[in-house]
Amino acid sequence: MKRLESILTEIEEFKKRRPTFEKEIKIYKMMLQAQKPILEKPKAGTYIDRMPVKFLDKLQNLSLKDGKPLSSLLEPTIYDFKTLNKTFLATLEGFEKLNIEKSKKYLKLIDNMSKPIPEFIEKRLKNDHKFFLSLEKKFDLRNSFLEMIVDTLIQPSMKMFASKVKKEEFLDLWNKTICPICGRIPFIVVKDEEEVWRFQCAFCNAEYAMNIFRCPNCENEDFKRKGFFFVEGREAFEVSYCQDCSSYFKVINKHKLREGIPIGLEDLHTSFLDELAQKKNLKRLDTLRLRTRIKNQQIKR
Ligand SMILES: [Zn+2]
Ligand SMILES: [Zn+2]
Repeated sequence: MKRLESILTEIEEFKKRRPTFEKEIKIYKMMLQAQKPILEKPKAGTYIDRMPVKFLDKLQNLSLKDGKPLSSLLEPTIYDFKTLNKTFLATLEGFEKLNIEKSKKYLKLIDNMSKPIPEFIEKRLKNDHKFFLSLEKKFDLRNSFLEMIVDTLIQPSMKMFASKVKKEEFLDLWNKTICPICGRIPFIVVKDEEEVWRFQCAFCNAEYAMNIFRCPNCENEDFKRKGFFFVEGREAFEVSYCQDCSSYFKVINKHKLREGIPIGLEDLHTSFLDELAQKKNLKRLDTLRLRTRIKNQQIKR
């Protein structure tokens, strides 16, 4: 993993080139800086070095067997809450400095948070959006904002898991759209070699095999119903969309890539594709409720 300082320098340079994204970049930078206490610990703020040797192997097998992302199988007890609490406070302080919400709301959150941190983490690991929605009133904060705070705490460990799991025996066997590590919906695909496409998770950086013939949203397998477009002069970036469900994702072709993209800014870097796609009335994959997800929920009921 690149050193935090060099990542921050790259981000600062990017911000100068793309001033329209100043706000987004400031938030991203602040979150990275708040993660420093966690990043300084050897296992990203977890106790996984105390787990049995086969811990991670077992998790991967169970994840494949149940079709559930690895995060949803983790217990919050793997975390060192003393360290996480430092990041939590730094995140709130950072948001306050950036004037994102009113100060007194943060104080209310701090007063209520000393014990619930494990619960917040557990719910976020399981991608339980309803839980955070139910907290909106209590804290007078948007659920997406609450989730973002908890994300800052768990992201370093998710990145660590993504770098430790097996590629051929896990990431390439997963065969689903949602991220096998953190369960989030991807919107970027990287093309490395001819015909090898991989989803790239924007949250944990996991890269996992995708079926190029199947639409990641509606699962249509008719390749003729797929469309592509790109901007002349920027052939390293493409939009791939489905003519049946109008969903799209962005493709980064590493072979044609001549420019460096700072880690975590792939989305902003390729935002010109989103503008074009939206003009064509296409919908970004991560903004859609995946049909596969709905199917899974129906099975549960
Ligand atoms: Zn992920
Ligand atoms: Zn589709």
